[in-house]
Amino acid sequence: MTSEEYRRQEAELDDLYREIIIDHYRHPRHKGHLPAPSACHEGVNPLCGDEVTVEVGVEDGKLGEIAFTGSGCSISQSSASMMTEAVAGKSIDEARRLITNFTGLMRGDESIDPESLGDLEALAGVRKFPVRIKCATLAWHTLGEALDEASGQV
Ligand code: ZN
Repeated sequence: MTSEEYRRQEAELDDLYREIIIDHYRHPRHKGHLPAPSACHEGVNPLCGDEVTVEVGVEDGKLGEIAFTGSGCSISQSSASMMTEAVAGKSIDEARRLITNFTGLMRGDESIDPESLGDLEALAGVRKFPVRIKCATLAWHTLGEALDEASGQV
């Protein structure tokens, strides 16, 4: 897909959603590195060329710290930024539940209420463009792998 097609798809998202996505893309939250991460995992989405590396600091069953670095389209990077805001400080169980709910929502699971996901609802509009769903879920799958690594499940 050409970059024009990407821009056109992004322009088709609802204005409010687009604003949230662009805000996170331009001013990413929790972007950078942790001094001593418990685990670090890199994810790539070859379909679009997106890369996201997630670093987690796990302590007492909680996700005390999280940071990401990466490059790619606005949907992949803003999703990573929104994700770090959503899961920072949460218990590992809550973080895993969010991963399940968000990736389920993006796959079209209708039992999940998008409004329960706060700002993340903005990304639900991406479902109109099946090829971009992997952009939106990349950071989340990567976080899941990092949590597995942190808990010694790998
Ligand atoms: Zn992408």
